[in-house]
Amino acid sequence: MMAYSRFTNSDIYIYSHIDGYIECCACWLNKGQEEYSLFLDNVKIYNDLDLARHLKAHANLGHEMPDNLLQDILQDDDRYG
Ligand SMILES: [Zn+2]
Repeated sequence: MMAYSRFTNSDIYIYSHIDGYIECCACWLNKGQEEYSLFLDNVKIYNDLDLARHLKAHANLGHEMPDNLLQDILQDDDRYG
């Protein structure tokens, strides 16, 4: 699998899943929905509009991510498998 962004330099871990969607792993947008959860839910993204909205939601919350993350993902023709 190819990760676009990993937790080492980013608050989000997002990659192209072989089943045909982009996955945001242990997504911080799910924080606070559970009383306590060590493992936050993954989020599946199926189109570019949802992708853009998802990354914007992270940005709005001040999550760190590579500046060009959206463009990098959009440049990958195989992003949905
Ligand atoms: Zn996310």
